[in-house]
Amino acid sequence: MEIDTIKFKEKLETEMETLHGEMQKIARVNPDSEKEDWEAKGPDLNVLQADQNQRADVQREYELNNTLLKDIETRYNGVKEALVRIEDGTYGVCSVGGEQIELDRLEANPAATTCKAHLSE
Ligand SMILES: [Zn+2]
Repeated sequence: MEIDTIKFKEKLETEMETLHGEMQKIARVNPDSEKEDWEAKGPDLNVLQADQNQRADVQREYELNNTLLKDIETRYNGVKEALVRIEDGTYGVCSVGGEQIELDRLEANPAATTCKAHLSE
């Protein structure tokens, strides 16, 4: 059974763009880091001079962004790794048992790294 990597590559690239767009709304790339390192947007300076209630709101928003960012970043990295596996010719191989990942599982999650049997590992 051949995997249509061209199709999955397109799906992955589309998802990567979507995730990238989502990250840009709530985060920026750390300019001091050499690798792609995203950090949630923090409060800007004039907000720091705001009253305590406003500061608390901003702090909450920052924490929310941070939580959201971690989730998106995990998915983003997973998609990036899947694209590398397509280039390597190892795409669609279960990372636990080495068998081929079911096509319907890849359809549902093109960045999947394990087959259904090894789903929880
Ligand atoms: Zn497996």
